[in-house]
Amino acid sequence: MRPFWHIARRMLIRRGMLISALLLAFISAAGLGIGLLSLGPMLEQILHPETGHGLRAMAEEANAAGGFWHIPDGIVGMLPADRFNGVLLLIVVIWCLTILGATANFLHQYLSQTLATITIADVRRDLFDHVLRLPLSRVAGQGSSEYTARIIRDTAGLEAGFIGLLGKSVAQISKGVAALVVAVIFDWKIVVVACLVAPILAVTLRKIAKRIRRGSRGSLAAQQDLLRLAGERIQGLRAVKTSTAEQTAAEQFDEANARVVHNELRMRTAKAMSSPIMETLAIFVLGSLALLAANSILSGSLPFERFLLSVGALAVAGASFRPLANIVNDISAASAPAKRILDVLGESTEPDGSTPLSRHEGLLELRSVSFAYPGAATPSVRDVSLTVRFGEHVAVVGPNGSGKTTLLSLVPRLLVPTSGEVLIDGQDIADARLTDLRRQIAVVTQEPFIMRGTIAENIAFGVPDASDADIREAAKASCAAGFIESLPNGYQSVIAEHGATLSGGQRQRLAIARALLRSPSILILDEATSQVDSESEAAIAEAIRGVSDCTVLVIAHRLTTVLECSRIVVMDEGAVVDCASHDDLLARCSLYERLIRTQLVAVES
Ligand code: ADP
Repeated sequence: MRPFWHIARRMLIRRGMLISALLLAFISAAGLGIGLLSLGPMLEQILHPETGHGLRAMAEEANAAGGFWHIPDGIVGMLPADRFNGVLLLIVVIWCLTILGATANFLHQYLSQTLATITIADVRRDLFDHVLRLPLSRVAGQGSSEYTARIIRDTAGLEAGFIGLLGKSVAQISKGVAALVVAVIFDWKIVVVACLVAPILAVTLRKIAKRIRRGSRGSLAAQQDLLRLAGERIQGLRAVKTSTAEQTAAEQFDEANARVVHNELRMRTAKAMSSPIMETLAIFVLGSLALLAANSILSGSLPFERFLLSVGALAVAGASFRPLANIVNDISAASAPAKRILDVLGESTEPDGSTPLSRHEGLLELRSVSFAYPGAATPSVRDVSLTVRFGEHVAVVGPNGSGKTTLLSLVPRLLVPTSGEVLIDGQDIADARLTDLRRQIAVVTQEPFIMRGTIAENIAFGVPDASDADIREAAKASCAAGFIESLPNGYQSVIAEHGATLSGGQRQRLAIARALLRSPSILILDEATSQVDSESEAAIAEAIRGVSDCTVLVIAHRLTTVLECSRIVVMDEGAVVDCASHDDLLARCSLYERLIRTQLVAVES
């Protein structure tokens, strides 16, 4: 349960709200207690068949006896002399107290649920912020659904626990305690006996809570799988259809779905057990009390009205404590999501440097850099040294898996070299401030990132203060303006998730427009490998041709792209094999010559 309490402590930040919520719960409980307590005089002193008399007579007697309180004569005069009117007055008082208690209860619920909801929103935001600052390799390795599930679903599970804790348990416990106090006032012996069973209840509840926690953990893991599976298959719907894999996908979904059902049922069975067990125990307790009381009444040591009042108050206490079993269940079930949330918050974020880095205008140097992915037997980049002058256009070519993407990921520090250094104008980027570094770099990936929103929002992503004119200019420079302006709503046209309504080339052009809007000093392009996409090819070639005041590094898969660059780096198995102009390489590098023949596609224009 520790993770749950750890996060629950965050509710203490809004102390005023928390204290008000608790006070209101106590006021509501006090209303109930006073109401119950006033039943005592009603039964024992007004309605008693032999000794009962009116409220006014009772007040006069009390004043005559000279107790601690002297009731003012004016008030005594206003009290009803008639016994029935006395009961009526007490009932009206109980009604008023009930309305006061109900109002306090509403405000308590409102405040505590608001506090729980706001606290969960804070947790969600912290989680999201934290995930944004995690190393890319970590998130990519775990899978995005792992993190989205924790941000969205686990926080919802935790919220149910918070509402159980604050919105329900405080109210029920304070009401139960108030009723218990009244029962003690009426007859303490019966209450002592009733309380003796409390440890049995506690042990039973603990056992059930443990089963629920275990079930909840399994259920969350199974749901996580289902979420990932559904996400992957739906995102890859094109492949599912063209591979006629609908049946396979449906079967895989069924399997994961069945695991969710199995785990959910385990948890629900444990939850379902708690109420019947509690009710059975309660009947046993009440029966034993009745036997005990019957003995005392028959022997004349306990007046019957007292017994009635005490058992009545005990029953109210029992009714208030009863929902606690379910609330404890909710809180127990929230422990597993709390742990999953804390696990993410405990993952270390990308290390950031503190040295300011000015805009690149000299040399970009890679000095003997190597990089191995965690757990990989061989490094993906091996001892690469490369110097690029500002403004130079350099292509990186090589067979699939030769380390091109890995190498260029070292420049914006998406990956940190295992050995060696990356320097910009002589400064090691390892100590540089990440924002200074990344603000001057633009990256266009093979499958560009496009989100649901307008075209303008997509281009301006990352440059929030860009003006409409800046956006148009970037679109023009990336040759995206033509297709954008032909859309019915132009820059305000809303595009679908992942840009599904755009062609590959259009997506690429939007991504290039976004990159150019940043006015980068280093532009990194990763050309689409898909052989049919000559439109993307043209987009990349135009982008390279169009930029002059920036260093361009491009992972090239087309001959036309390579020919746009002054220098070509040839990679194989993580190492640089050669680096020269196209003509020189053609004359001396056999791997380059082979790549030209087999992989670097020459698309006829
Ligand atoms: P290229 O861009 O030339 O196709 P990459 O840089 O993508 O090559 O990959 C180089 C090598 O690193 C490959 O052997 C690949 O399997 C491995 N690799 C790439 N990404 C990861 C990763 N996230 N974890 C482990 N190995 C990886």
